[in-house]
Amino acid sequence: MLNAPDPNEPTAIILQSGQKTVEITWADGHQSRYPFEQLRWACPCAHCRGEMGRPGVLARTTTLTAAEQQLVDLQLVGRYALQPRWADGHETGIYSFEDVRAICPCPQCARSRPGG
Ligand SMILES: [Zn+2]
Ligand SMILES: [Zn+2]
Repeated sequence: MLNAPDPNEPTAIILQSGQKTVEITWADGHQSRYPFEQLRWACPCAHCRGEMGRPGVLARTTTLTAAEQQLVDLQLVGRYALQPRWADGHETGIYSFEDVRAICPCPQCARSRPGG
């Protein structure tokens, strides 16, 4: 179908600083609410994730500082990804919509994930 909604395309992204969550409504109508902390742990950049067999900083820590989990801004990257800016200055993580949708923490999505 030509005009089928892409489930990985956000139609609304709301930064809820008071609740420390990002609320995303997707083209298929699903609504996801991500705690800032979850998004920071999911940072896909080489610094956080590691590269070429080297562990990233997130693999070597179990706690985040307040600044590391304080989202201050959220930019759209083209039509495919989000780029958050954190209070500690970190902003190299590019989160594709697909990856963000895949980590939706709601019970409905958690149930449909293998091994979840
Ligand atoms: Zn990162
Ligand atoms: Zn969900």
